[in-house]
Amino acid sequence: MKVTLLGTGGMIPTLHRNLPSIALQREGDLFLFDCGEGTQIQFVRASLSFGKLFAIFLSHLHGDHVTGLPGLLMTIMQQSREKPLLIFGPPGTREYVNISRKCLGFTPSYLLDIREISEGRFYSGAGFRMEAILLDHRIPTFAFSLTEDPRPGCFFPDKARELGVPEGPLFGKLQRGETLTLEDGKTVTPEMVMGPSRKGRKFVYVSDTRPCAQVVKFAREADFLIHEGMFSSEMEEDARKKGHSTAAQAARIAREAGAKRLVITHISSRYRRINELLSEARSVFPGAIIGRDLMEFEIPMHK
Ligand SMILES: [Zn+2]
Ligand SMILES: [Zn+2]
Repeated sequence: MKVTLLGTGGMIPTLHRNLPSIALQREGDLFLFDCGEGTQIQFVRASLSFGKLFAIFLSHLHGDHVTGLPGLLMTIMQQSREKPLLIFGPPGTREYVNISRKCLGFTPSYLLDIREISEGRFYSGAGFRMEAILLDHRIPTFAFSLTEDPRPGCFFPDKARELGVPEGPLFGKLQRGETLTLEDGKTVTPEMVMGPSRKGRKFVYVSDTRPCAQVVKFAREADFLIHEGMFSSEMEEDARKKGHSTAAQAARIAREAGAKRLVITHISSRYRRINELLSEARSVFPGAIIGRDLMEFEIPMHK
């Protein structure tokens, strides 16, 4: 899986930070989390393909997270897309898309499959599932997670040979979890020739929220956590009033959740330099990163 930060600003764009949008690439599909104004051009800058877009996830309907959507939907119409495009979001998502379509006078040539979700598991795909929880912002706002199914353990061909399994298609059957009965009547199970199953990866996106206790559980042992951290600690009271977090609060959530990596986004336009945010976050979560537009991260598979 590969993460590209398309927009790491919040509320208003700056010369250096676009409005929120995160791309996640997995097995040839592209998942887009939020679609702030300017997302299309960031797509182009990051050399991402509109054609690979599988689904768009809207955390909430504040303008900084969704105003890039109508333009993106229109651009995709130029691409002779045949497969449907999924859009997941809070109640109101369908109305927002439909009113935009009406006002701008466009009808997508592809199927737009809009689904207004509630908390819990809301989608299961090939080898992964997606879940959502409500955050603590000023309007209904979701955090999203994508968790991969566990992968089968390592296959040990020498062990299989020792047990009398002939090399070839039977090796594949064992790796797919099938039990074999050999010609001599002996049974060989996958467990006899494979190591323990390997954990799938977990990606979590948390935008626009006050520090929220449920996120600790939701992001438990995430391989990659993106959490908003709009302000420095001296603005903590202001952040709370506006429904946001400080960088240090984001770091605390990541530490309590046992997340492996933390990238902080939705950075206020007041911070041209990020030293303060970075040192506050790193004093709590040493590996914390303050996201910059077009940063890319690989999320490696578990061995
Ligand atoms: Zn926002
Ligand atoms: Zn918001």
